[in-house]
Amino acid sequence: MRALVTGGAGFIGSHLSEALVNRGDEVFVLDDLSTGRFENIEHLGDRVTCVVDTTLNQDTVREMVREVDVVYHLAASVGVQLVVSQPTRTLINNIKGTETVLEETCRYRRRLLITSTSEVYGKGTKEIFYEHDDRVVGPTDRPRWGYAASKAVDEYLAMAFWREKRHPVVITRLFNTVGPRQTGRYGMVVPNFVRQALRNEPVTVYGDGKQTRCFAYVGDIVPALIGLMDRKDLSGAVFNVGNDESVTIEELAHRVIARTGSTSKVVLVPYEEAYGPGYDDMLHRRPSLEKIGAAIGYKPTTNLDQILDAVIADMRAREERDGAPAT
Ligand code: UDP
Repeated sequence: MRALVTGGAGFIGSHLSEALVNRGDEVFVLDDLSTGRFENIEHLGDRVTCVVDTTLNQDTVREMVREVDVVYHLAASVGVQLVVSQPTRTLINNIKGTETVLEETCRYRRRLLITSTSEVYGKGTKEIFYEHDDRVVGPTDRPRWGYAASKAVDEYLAMAFWREKRHPVVITRLFNTVGPRQTGRYGMVVPNFVRQALRNEPVTVYGDGKQTRCFAYVGDIVPALIGLMDRKDLSGAVFNVGNDESVTIEELAHRVIARTGSTSKVVLVPYEEAYGPGYDDMLHRRPSLEKIGAAIGYKPTTNLDQILDAVIADMRAREERDGAPAT
């Protein structure tokens, strides 16, 4: 199988590329290296062909799509901090990039997997989110919801291509994926906390820390993406992908401190200070995994402590290798 991974030099994309290479696929990566890093796939050597360009470049997308059998579309502007600070780029990258990938995969009839996000559920107050749930998003003057809207437009576009052209596309909604190689530079909480704890700096919990999240290990997510891609009968459908073990952000901070053996203290930082005025957080975000469980037998197997240990070990190794604190 020949696979194209857009965003293949990013955190999840690089793990996916590696898994595909390991099962014998020929892998092509398209990445503009905006948030991805070539070092993430360097170890794969010539088993991966990497093109540095953006999914906004339709000619490049067309040439690469033509060469492969399937396309995993992961390239996007991600990370709450990036999204809030660069809303124009986020909206254009996410909407236009996905439109281009849809057009070209449809032209050559290549099976496509789109990675969307649990953000599309917005600030619904449900305990568990099901794929068919209503979306509850905030007003247009709050950039966070622009990200949610851009990914929802991607989903609407994918559904439209499926309905009107029978384009074989499957949509995944990823919930807080973490693991080695993830950077904290764009706001993601686990690498941020681990970095702070390793430096014995204050661990910054935003808000009152009572908000909860479910953190999924990238090593559990990647086989799910491949499993959904391989099931050709699963087109025109949306699947939650994640872990359903929930933790408060305050508890997460304490666990990171304990597992790193750090002397850090937890500090509460008001949302306004962290993200600027008018930031809406969501209280809980937990996926129903019933649908993907029934479809491909998916069940996450890595618990939070195992995930944290993997992230801590990776950050320590990076610091040692680079001789500088990992970010
Ligand atoms: N968060 C935090 N400290 C940080 C970074 C994030 O307390 O240094 C909080 C953030 O406000 C949110 C949760 O951790 O409630 C998860 O944040 P992240 O940006 O990782 O993901 P998302 O908000 O998209 O779930």
